[in-house]
Amino acid sequence: MDFIQPTSWADALAIKAGLPAAVPLAGGTDLMVEVNFDARRPEALLDLTRLAELAEWERSGDWLRLGAGVTYARLITELGGLLPGLAMASRTVGSPQIRNRGTVGGNLGTASPAGDSHPPLLAGGAVIEAESVRGRRMISATDFYTGVKANALAPDELIAAIHLPLPSGPEQFSKIGTRNAMVIAVAAFSVALHPDRKEVTTGIGSAAPTPRRAAAAETFLTAALDEDGLWGSREALPDPMCAEFARLVSAAAAPIDDVRGTAAYRLHSLAVLARRTLAWAWRDYQRGNSDRGRQR
Ligand SMILES: Cc1cc2nc3c(=O)[nH]c(=O)nc-3n(C[C@H](O)[C@H](O)[C@H](O)COP(=O)(O)OP(=O)(O)OC[C@H]3O[C@@H](n4cnc5c(N)ncnc54)[C@H](O)[C@@H]3O)c2cc1C
Repeated sequence: MDFIQPTSWADALAIKAGLPAAVPLAGGTDLMVEVNFDARRPEALLDLTRLAELAEWERSGDWLRLGAGVTYARLITELGGLLPGLAMASRTVGSPQIRNRGTVGGNLGTASPAGDSHPPLLAGGAVIEAESVRGRRMISATDFYTGVKANALAPDELIAAIHLPLPSGPEQFSKIGTRNAMVIAVAAFSVALHPDRKEVTTGIGSAAPTPRRAAAAETFLTAALDEDGLWGSREALPDPMCAEFARLVSAAAAPIDDVRGTAAYRLHSLAVLARRTLAWAWRDYQRGNSDRGRQR
């Protein structure tokens, strides 16, 4: 197996164009497990860890550009206030060692339905910046996941960065697993409130072949909040409204039975997660002290 270590992004793209079978290596917390267990034997590894630009993030107006190689540990310490939903999810990833190595770019590369960054990326309206020698293209998170552990990248493309609008309101994330730490999600859910445009967005993880949004739940709650004037009054959410939101989130999932849980359990837990995260987000909104990235 060849080990190729480019020192510039342009070189990395040129190598990937010439040898599409070269598999990019970021933190290695997914890839090296597969290689070590002989589940995968790539012709070549394309090590991206020497590319300083991949590990940078920058804010530009109301958007943040997160280099694909920014680790969870840095995301938590440096961006906890600006990207609260993604930071919450990052805190639940693996162990300190995994969070020190693992990256959001790697999570997107693997595109596991259970990857923890996906629900907040979907709810947060993330756009993935993919690049090759042919040029750059922007792929919305909604279009990025194309199947079980499959994504929209072309064979010669690399993920350069993830672009996220800074939230105008509270974001919440929760996952359920067989224990509290070092656990792959049995189900996960993110919700984001957008008071600026009076909209609610969501992301479901580990409960369908791909991470996905709960479109009907978003439409329902967005309309219900508006009709009842709740964005303005910030009054308590009516129970039937929360229950219907939870039901629609669960209905948007298409889970399977597997070693981690049954489909029925996943559907039930998703409804619980949806109701809980909505309650937390609304409480933050009522208090007016949410982690509103834009105001930081
Ligand atoms: C013990 C343990 C616990 C874990 N716990 C969790 C958890 O709780 N939640 C969770 O979501 N995940 C978990 N994981 C999985 C893993 O840590 C994450 O998926 C992580 O985000 C992978 O990032 P990485 O940088 O290590 O990726 P790598 O392993 O380096 O790469 C992963 C995939 O992405 C591709 N890739 C990497 N960078 C790019 C790029 N720039 N462009 C294109 N493709 C790219 C690689 O080719 C590979 O296919 C765990 C793993 C281990 C070993």
